[in-house]
Amino acid sequence: MKTPLCDLQYSELEELVAAAGEPRYRAEQLCRHIVAYDGFEEYTDLPKSFIAKLRENYFDRPFIEKSRVVSTDGATRYLFETAEGDLVEAVFLPHGYGNSVCVSCQVGCAMGCTFCASGYYGFKRNLSAGEILAQALFIARDKKDEGGVKKIVMMGSGEPLANYDNTVKFFKLLSSKKGLNIGMRSISISTCGLPDKIERLARDGFSGTLSLSLHAATDEKRKKIMRVANSHTVKDIVKSMRTFFDATRRRVVIEYILIAGFNDTDADVSALKNLLRGLCCHVNLIPLNPTDHCDLKPPTKKQAYAFCAKLNDAKISATVRRSMGSDVAGACGQLKNRTVEAEMVSKNLSKR
Ligand code: SAH
Repeated sequence: MKTPLCDLQYSELEELVAAAGEPRYRAEQLCRHIVAYDGFEEYTDLPKSFIAKLRENYFDRPFIEKSRVVSTDGATRYLFETAEGDLVEAVFLPHGYGNSVCVSCQVGCAMGCTFCASGYYGFKRNLSAGEILAQALFIARDKKDEGGVKKIVMMGSGEPLANYDNTVKFFKLLSSKKGLNIGMRSISISTCGLPDKIERLARDGFSGTLSLSLHAATDEKRKKIMRVANSHTVKDIVKSMRTFFDATRRRVVIEYILIAGFNDTDADVSALKNLLRGLCCHVNLIPLNPTDHCDLKPPTKKQAYAFCAKLNDAKISATVRRSMGSDVAGACGQLKNRTVEAEMVSKNLSKR
């Protein structure tokens, strides 16, 4: 099985170059090509014999672009395909203060949230650190003329804390001065709430933004929409968020999808107030993006703002999130599912 070159840290590139009997400065050249997401045919300053050796064990690029959809607000949703045919989604979000990329960390997802398209076809595999990085490298190359990529959001398909080692290695690759040089402060990570891993992230020195996909403030309600709620209580999760804050002094974000008539009542305001008491956090309210496979509905804009006002009255810092790119196949996993489903349809048709 070949490894993508972008999975290697700089020290590993130096070892590879030495093992191939090449001079040390080749590591620098190689690194520049990897960060530029060049194909082997673009490695023109390296000897052909060295490139031939590289080809034996490594991929230049782990993905090719399968399709993209561009939103009216400039957000671009990319669908990448690996050599094995796995599909991986990433989104470019343009901002005047620094463009960001939302990356996926798994093919599919095992967490089983009813409202989320990513897990609909189950879990296939973890992405390697290099495969996570490659999404940012591809997009940085593609959007070079628009200012490249300055921030990373781990909010695509998959659960980053269930792919812990590769996620942490991805941060290392990302922040390398010889790489994209995107430091921890410019990284946001979103989790469905795995308390032991949240505490480990704090111990391992993560100093970016941590978001928790809470979506319901009681276990009873959360179990109705998130399978992972059967394994961890909201109290334990919030406790781990508090530990994270104490260690990092970084305010945490609570993500709360608004589902009409389900989690937007006065009782939910009280439950949130009780649960979040004493936690330094901001609540992001996200009107649900309806998916093809579930009949939950978002509230109206007016209802969403009314719920937000009630949280603010209860002294909870909260805002309704403006969702970029919702006209380009919405929330995570939706573009991939639509593509898979379109292919299923075309295969059925061609069988006839
Ligand atoms: N597994 C991680 C990260 C991936 S999901 C997590 O659970 O946080 C990124 C965010 O998108 C999560 O907050 C998730 O709950 C949200 N999301 C998924 N499907 C959605 C939908 N249909 N509408 C709105 N947000 C959605």
